[in-house]
Amino acid sequence: MRITKGLAKMFLDGKAALVTGSSRGIGRATAIALARAGADVAVNYTSSQAAAEEVVARIRELGRCGVALQADVASMDQAEGLVEGAVREFGRLDILVNNAGITADGLLLRMKEHEWDRVLAVNLKGAFNCTKAALRYLLKAPAGRVINIGSIIGLRGNPGQVNYAAAKAGLIGFSKALAREVGRRGVTVNVVAPGFIVTEMTDRLPEGLKQKMLADIPLGRFGQPEEVAGVVVFLASDAAAYITGQVITVDGGLAM
Ligand code: NAP
Repeated sequence: MRITKGLAKMFLDGKAALVTGSSRGIGRATAIALARAGADVAVNYTSSQAAAEEVVARIRELGRCGVALQADVASMDQAEGLVEGAVREFGRLDILVNNAGITADGLLLRMKEHEWDRVLAVNLKGAFNCTKAALRYLLKAPAGRVINIGSIIGLRGNPGQVNYAAAKAGLIGFSKALAREVGRRGVTVNVVAPGFIVTEMTDRLPEGLKQKMLADIPLGRFGQPEEVAGVVVFLASDAAAYITGQVITVDGGLAM
């Protein structure tokens, strides 16, 4: 650990990161923020190849190495290929950000089985798949990091999102259990739980619902992807070396 005059640094020079679902939104902002802090970054996507290549171009402009890798995190085979692709590119893996996520909203009475299955498969099993594939590399790293992107919906619930709430709550249990498994090996595992962040995921919501949510946010505005990314960079850095098994909300005070 690099500690200068008692202060741990938020530099990630020489580290390698993989951010799942980083062609757009929070993942994109996180990949760029990690590169700005000094890390090489693997950018993952399923269909948005051009957007992923654009993120890689931004990473290279920042003087870091980047690579775009297509994989559906819900598939164990593809998650393994994704992690191997990142390690092949950078020769190591220090930071895994499980960010890929989807919604398929509907009240329980109307929710289809496939909507439950797919949301659980991407949001929860995706994190299991990628972390399982990445763990042996993270254990070899001097300070391995797993950072899972949850949601305040996993803490509070939300009508119309039993699948998403269950997946995000599951991610918290997953993270706490793993934090206990790997803490003595120097790997930390934390959850960042955003509130309402302006991305394509939230663009789809009806205007009336957005205004209702806005009225409940103490800071009086929606969040930006970069405001989640900053917390991820902090958790990835030496400054957060003594933080594990935690859920950090980034929600303008909405869930307090
Ligand atoms: P977004 O704008 O919809 O972007 C989703 C990203 O995930 C895209 O890069 C997408 O790739 C990728 N992706 C989707 N399914 C995937 C799969 N099966 N395998 C690999 N990548 C996949 O979403 P966002 O709003 O940035 O959300 C990012 C994370 O934050 C999610 O976990 C979400 O649940 C969480 N979150 C968001 C908010 C919010 O207000 N936006 C609030 C709380 C939590 P393609 O472009 O190729 O489809």
